[in-house]
This record gives sequence, C-alpha cells and structure tokens, in this order.
Amino acid sequence: MRRLDDANQSYVPAGIIGDMEREFGVRITYNKAWRVKEKELRFLHGTPEESFQKLPSYCHMLTEKNPGTIAHIELDSNNRFLYFFLAFGPSVRDFREYMRPIICVDGSYLKGQYKGTLLVAALKDVVDDSNQLVFMLDRKKSIKRAITRLFPLSHHSTCIWHIEKNLIARYSSSNVIFLFKRATLAYRVSEFDQFMTQIRTIRPSMASYLERAGISTWSQAHFVGNQYNVMTNNITESLNSVLRRHKSFPIISLIENITSLIKRWFYERKSASTKCSTTVTPKIDDELRKSFDAGATLPVRNLDELVFEIGIATELCTTDLINNTCSCREFQMRQIPCSHASRAACAKEKLLYDLCSPYYTT
Ligand SMILES: [Zn+2]
Repeated sequence: MRRLDDANQSYVPAGIIGDMEREFGVRITYNKAWRVKEKELRFLHGTPEESFQKLPSYCHMLTEKNPGTIAHIELDSNNRFLYFFLAFGPSVRDFREYMRPIICVDGSYLKGQYKGTLLVAALKDVVDDSNQLVFMLDRKKSIKRAITRLFPLSHHSTCIWHIEKNLIARYSSSNVIFLFKRATLAYRVSEFDQFMTQIRTIRPSMASYLERAGISTWSQAHFVGNQYNVMTNNITESLNSVLRRHKSFPIISLIENITSLIKRWFYERKSASTKCSTTVTPKIDDELRKSFDAGATLPVRNLDELVFEIGIATELCTTDLINNTCSCREFQMRQIPCSHASRAACAKEKLLYDLCSPYYTT
C-alpha cells in the first residue's frame, strides 16, 4: 500500500509478484497481483463512483478555502457528469496581472474506469477575450473551433515542436528540418522567405505541407499578435507528463494531486524569485548579457536624440528607444533589447532592465 500510495512511482503487478516472493516467500499469479492492486487502489482513493458523488461538496470546500478559485461542474439533462472546470484563485490573479497573455492548451486521455479527457486550458469567465491574447494549440480542430467561438479576438499559434515531429515522421530529412526551425524563428519576413525558398528547392512537398499548416500560426515573422517567443506547448506537455500516473485515479484524487502540484510550483517559484539578484528572471538576465556582448563592438550613429543606426553596411539596423523598436524586429517582438538596442542603450547610458517588458521581472 505504501508503494501504491506513492504517486510518483509506478507499481505494476510484476513488481507486486517480485515483492511477495522476496518478502514473504509466497508465489502469486499475475491475475492475483493485478486484483490486489485494484483493491488497494480503491481502498486508498475510493471508488470512481464515490468520487463523482463527492465532487459537488469537494468543489464547495475548494472554493471556500481558496479565495478566487473557480470550480464548476456541468451535468447533462439526466444529472450525469459531463465536465468539471477548475481554475485556482492565485493562478487566475497572477495570469491577469503578471503573465504574458499566452495560453497553452493540450488534452490528454484519462485512464480510469470512466475514461474522459484532461484539458489543461482556461475558460471565458477567467480570461477576457482580447487581441493581445494568444492560444498555443496542437492541431486538434475541435479545440480550435471552441476557442474561436469563445475568444473571437484572440490569435492562435501552433506548437512548432508538434509540426517538427510530423515533419520528422514524414520527411526524415534533418537538413530541411533545420531550415524549418530557422524559418520559424526568423523575425523578418525577408529572412523567413529566404528559408522557405531553400525548403521549397530541396523538398517542394514539405514546403506545401508547411503552407497548409498555416504559415501565420507557426512563423514568428508572419504571426499577427505577440507570441513573446513562446513557440512550443512544452509547459502543458510537462504538466501532462507529471500527472501521467494520476490519470487512472478517481476524479477527486486526480484533482487533489493537481492542487498539490500547483501549490508546490507556486512555492518553488516564489522561493526562486526571492533569491534573484536582479529585477528580471535569471533566464532573461542571461539573454541580456548575450545581447550586450553581441552589441558591444557594433558601430553606433545618432540619427536623433533617441534614434540610432547600429552596425555595419550589410547588417545595418535602426533602433528607436522612444518606441522600443528595432528594424531587426527582435526588440518589439520579444520585448527584450536585441544586440542593437543594447548597443544604443549603452550609448545613452540607459539600463537594459528598463527596456524589458514587465512580464520578465521577478
Ligand atoms: Zn535589432
């Protein structure tokens, strides 16, 4: 039971058979080991039916104890369970106030007796529709349809990791996949076009596939809205992977595990942020250092009080510190100074931290 209760470790019937033999010298069949496991799991987590029955009172308790938390159960006309939605108060508040307005959505199938789908997502009551809002999706049409209906102003992007996986399966040509990656990350349309032309020359079918996938959803240069360099759905993939052992649990045990996971993440993030020595996160601090180094030796020429021409003939960029833009487009798209903006900031003795979006502060 102790081993079964450890949600981070799997305990399969073969393991039970081995332990029984080692600890008690008793040989049991696979079937018996499987039944023992099922019985003990029910003892630990209750039956799926009991769990569904307790859900309304559990929801009530959850919202009472965690201010701002939204828990909603949807039933069908026969009073049977359809959906359950949960958003934690602190998650909602922090998303509205401090986070880049990007929501990664991903679904994974539950493995309990009654199946179901776990969607890591957000609902209309929690997040307001806006043309600043971006949804990062895999290519499932049903999710996309629902989001288009609920958030008509929002923009959609496709996880480039999912596209890459499909490309590997279809074309298994590493040099063209390398070109695809360069194309996704290009900030300028001209730069993007160069990579696409090369892909089309080497693999015309792959270029057509990428066009059909919707260029504006996977290319930064063509994306309408601001993605802040969030190009993959990794966050939801990791959440799904952390929860993979809980997917066969009755609904309340599943929710309890999600709750404790989110609480732990909040605690870990908070402790990490108190140890930061600068106003921005360590990752951004590191990127600023790289931009600073890359820009340090670039020639700089004043065009106006806060407008500069940076670089040499072939790679000449115009950086504007009034509107925080650069002709390389990296500065306005990422809202972190590019090498040119770093150089301009140095020339004006401005702090690089002040040129970063508040989203990157600790
Ligand atoms: Zn630039």
